[in-house]
Amino acid sequence: MPGRSARELLSAEVLSIGSELTVGETRDTNGGELARSLTEAGVRVQRLQALPDDLEAVTGAFRVALGRADLVVSTGGLGPTPDDLTREAIAAACAEIPDVDPDLEAWLHGLWARRGMPFPAINLKQAWRIPSARAIPNGNGTAPGWWVERPDGRVIVALPGPPREMRPMWHDWVVPRLRGLGLGTDVARTTYRLAGIGESAVADLLGEEILRAPNPIVATYARQDAVDVRISARAAGDRSAAQLVAAAAETVRERLGDRIWATGETTWGEAIGARLDELGWTLATLETGTGGTFAHLLGPLPRLTTAEVRTTAPGTLVELARAIRRASATDVGLAVRARPRSGDTAVSVAVVTGSGTHRESRLAFLGGEQGRQRAALAAADILLRRLRAG
Ligand code: AMP
Ligand code: MG
Repeated sequence: MPGRSARELLSAEVLSIGSELTVGETRDTNGGELARSLTEAGVRVQRLQALPDDLEAVTGAFRVALGRADLVVSTGGLGPTPDDLTREAIAAACAEIPDVDPDLEAWLHGLWARRGMPFPAINLKQAWRIPSARAIPNGNGTAPGWWVERPDGRVIVALPGPPREMRPMWHDWVVPRLRGLGLGTDVARTTYRLAGIGESAVADLLGEEILRAPNPIVATYARQDAVDVRISARAAGDRSAAQLVAAAAETVRERLGDRIWATGETTWGEAIGARLDELGWTLATLETGTGGTFAHLLGPLPRLTTAEVRTTAPGTLVELARAIRRASATDVGLAVRARPRSGDTAVSVAVVTGSGTHRESRLAFLGGEQGRQRAALAAADILLRRLRAG
């Protein structure tokens, strides 16, 4: 076997192989998981592709990806049936001939022998190996993976499709070995979660210069429960990735600080639950016109003792918030009401605590279910602000 020349693994492409993916029967979750893991390791993921079980397409994809990236990771196509062609494709892309590996064959035979069953000849394919490949052990199935180091230092990793087989092979076997070869660079990231502002307004406040800079990268994402501003950087010159992120984070806080309610992947339930814990307070809520979206957004919180959902409720919102607070004997009472208003959703909130009463109205974008979801976000934002005000 020729030696591998030293090469840092800084870029990667991910291939998800299987016609069940390209016809839309199965969702490609592997590709996203691997991309995330690689990104966290400081590897630039250049492409994610799904491919049908077609030898020419898969061989071509490996060839082209190997021409662009330091690392090519595939999942799928390692089954025993004729439509599983990943081994053939890698062999063709590397111009090598697969042969049965006696150790893999013995291991496979053992899997069936241990259940007292005859070995199906069709599975012998799973004992194949090309000379430059090492087998990646699979503790949860019959398909070993392949680890291939190319003479120019590029690496191919082929893993089986089932996530419960692929995941431990990736995290426990592959990643430590990739790190040994020099995986990724020093990277850092942070995410700010914003409420009460739209993605385009966020982009306006940040400005094009920041949003187009290649390092640090500042990007906005409109998610279900927040607009996220994600800052990521790689070390450059004498500045570490963390320093670059910190500098950009300061700018983001200066421009958008009053809209930031959390960092990372914090949910509304977690943020509100954590603040209630700090205060040692309990909460009771009453919502009308929301379809229960507010209670659903908060989820089960130990300090949320009552979460009532009604179609209508008589009285003013402040009266309702006081009443639910009294009836549940909690520190905080919140009442929220959502009403359709010419295509959008009017949302009003009253928050009553021992130290005072706060009432606020906002207009949530769109009507129907989308409007009710956004009404819940507005109510959560108003509540968290009150709780943080003390
Ligand atoms: P294979 O290794 O091609 O035999 O894949 C077997 C099974 O793994 C498929 O039938 C799917 O259920 C699952 N699978 C394959 N590829 C993926 C993928 N990219 N994401 C999620 N599941 C997958
Ligand atoms: Mg398959």
